[in-house]
Amino acid sequence: MPLDRDFVFSANNLQDYLDCPRRFELKYFLKQSWPAITSHPVQEMEYKIQMGNCFHKIVHQFLSGIPGNVLDNSIDDPDLKGWFIKFQEFIKPYLNFPYFSEFTVTMPFEGFRLIAVFDFITLTGSNKIIIGDWKTTTRNPKRELYLQSLQSFLYPFMMFENRDHIFSQVDKLRKEDISMEYWFPAFPEKTIALEYSSVSYATSQEVFSSLIKEIAIKEPGSFDKTTNDKRCAYCQYRSLCERGIQAGKVDDAENEFEDDSGLDNLDFDQIEEITF
Ligand code: SF4
Repeated sequence: MPLDRDFVFSANNLQDYLDCPRRFELKYFLKQSWPAITSHPVQEMEYKIQMGNCFHKIVHQFLSGIPGNVLDNSIDDPDLKGWFIKFQEFIKPYLNFPYFSEFTVTMPFEGFRLIAVFDFITLTGSNKIIIGDWKTTTRNPKRELYLQSLQSFLYPFMMFENRDHIFSQVDKLRKEDISMEYWFPAFPEKTIALEYSSVSYATSQEVFSSLIKEIAIKEPGSFDKTTNDKRCAYCQYRSLCERGIQAGKVDDAENEFEDDSGLDNLDFDQIEEITF
């Protein structure tokens, strides 16, 4: 039986499909839970995840109006404190414009729905929309990685499609007026800015459309395993797939592009969202 039409596609699950169709099948289609650590040492991996979650939460509280000094005083971890101080410096110029934080958008697409949760979006005085995304990686960020990521295509695409509903005051927005900025608290000087364009828009639409149509007609058992074995070292299903039992090292991960894994566990009744 093909994928249920209630399925919601995100940058994260589409990226999973591109990385390994079998992983998509196990994780989202068959909902196969399989206990395995995805990288080691476990404590380091857990610490990184926790730091990322805490940072996003504190930033959201700050952007929702809680004073920075109140939040500063609530942070014990010195790294997290340092990240938050840098964030406040970075975000200052954007706070003069209308913005949203942790903003969820869903929209129909190819008979399914697409979802994006924007860490930050703002409409600047020059009628430009900037999508901010915080990545708490502790490895030097590589532009190529972000250029290739599905999130870099999906978020501006959904922003453009829903521009009038998100920013009612926006005036004749062109695709070229949207940009995506990845900001790294551990590397505050290394913002990666990606400009959107009509070409990127057309490519995104085509790629998402063909990917979703391809997934929609697949039957269980027809999803191939990746041919790139390196990805298996960081995958929870490696023993199930007989692709090894040893988890990869946190520091050796070939792809440290942080995902929005939480999206796949979202309680859609509990989120504030804008739905079209
Ligand atoms: S272990 Fe490898 S082949 Fe199996 S789902 Fe994970 S990435 Fe795919």
